[in-house]
Amino acid sequence: MTKPETDLETLLKAQIAADGPITLAAYMATCLLHPDYGYYTTRDPLGRAGDFITSPEISQMFGELLGLCLAQAWVDQGAPDRFILAELGPGRGTLMADLLRATRKVPGFHAAATLHLVEASPSLRALQKQALASYPVTWSDSIDAVQNDAPLFLIANEFFDALPIQQFTRHAGGWCETIIGVAQNQLVKGYAAPVLQPELAHRLEDTKPGQVVETRPDATPIMARIGGQIARHGGAAVIIDYGNWRSNGDTLQAMRNHAFADPFAQPGHADLTAHVDFEAIAQAASPATATGLTDQGALLARLGIGARAELLSRNLTGAALENHLSATQRLTRAEEMGSLFKALALYAPHHPAPAGFDQNA
Ligand code: SAH
Repeated sequence: MTKPETDLETLLKAQIAADGPITLAAYMATCLLHPDYGYYTTRDPLGRAGDFITSPEISQMFGELLGLCLAQAWVDQGAPDRFILAELGPGRGTLMADLLRATRKVPGFHAAATLHLVEASPSLRALQKQALASYPVTWSDSIDAVQNDAPLFLIANEFFDALPIQQFTRHAGGWCETIIGVAQNQLVKGYAAPVLQPELAHRLEDTKPGQVVETRPDATPIMARIGGQIARHGGAAVIIDYGNWRSNGDTLQAMRNHAFADPFAQPGHADLTAHVDFEAIAQAASPATATGLTDQGALLARLGIGARAELLSRNLTGAALENHLSATQRLTRAEEMGSLFKALALYAPHHPAPAGFDQNA
């Protein structure tokens, strides 16, 4: 059975018919953030009723422990009396709400914080507003609007995986970028002619012809901004996502109704993500110092999820207790999210690394 064509599919096909194939990055950007038909712009994709579930939606412990990690880093840096507390891509606002609740008793932390959320989706902004109704919050579409003359403490969970990627296939004559065209009235993947890519020179050492590498152009200026502010004014950033130290093959995936889908069928109706290349993220954040890459399970264990889970379980019985125990395992076990998801922290030179992280790469 053929799937009904989506509005965005009609629009993309017309655009490709008029101007020729588009890059995978342009395709991904349109599918996710088109103002009228984009996946994030038009819906709440999270939770059991949505297409996927994220760590803060699985358990309150995730935001609580990461909040305490950031608050400890703030204390370790001398508790500056004014700082920016920022989150990139806050989804439903759950992580920030849990973070703020957990840090209420850290003396001076809330009073010193100016809250800033970077969110492109109007429908998710509305949910964030509800979740954080009791706090003064500033929103912007881009990190450029975050105040840049103060220490920056920042968190981002599953933000970078949603930024558009470019894919390049190695070829004897250079690298062939993945492009999207139309054949037999379907959107199809194709390859541009090989071009030399000086910025991929370091990937000649670990790839062979025919292999694919991915880059994420929008991540570079964001990390440069974060790293520059942290190095200059102090602060720390905790970035959690699925991926690895270096990008590895074609990792583009579409999720719909908690199952994998075809990324080129029904554009705008599935979440599109790709693994995060943490090496690229860390390098773009120079001169801030980067920690090594730490598995989510190990990080949460070191931040005390065992004790926190035990404490919360004391008030629970029956199905609620079972849900709590399975949520704890889901966040930490290697076979679930514990090792697919990784964390990287950035911090100001001459300060200790944030708690729970492996030391420098
Ligand atoms: N951090 C949340 C949500 C992850 S989904 C959680 O863990 O539950 C990705 C989030 O990033 C969404 O809030 C989405 O709207 C936002 N987002 C995606 N691309 C963005 C962009 N280019 N600029 C700002 N926000 C973006």
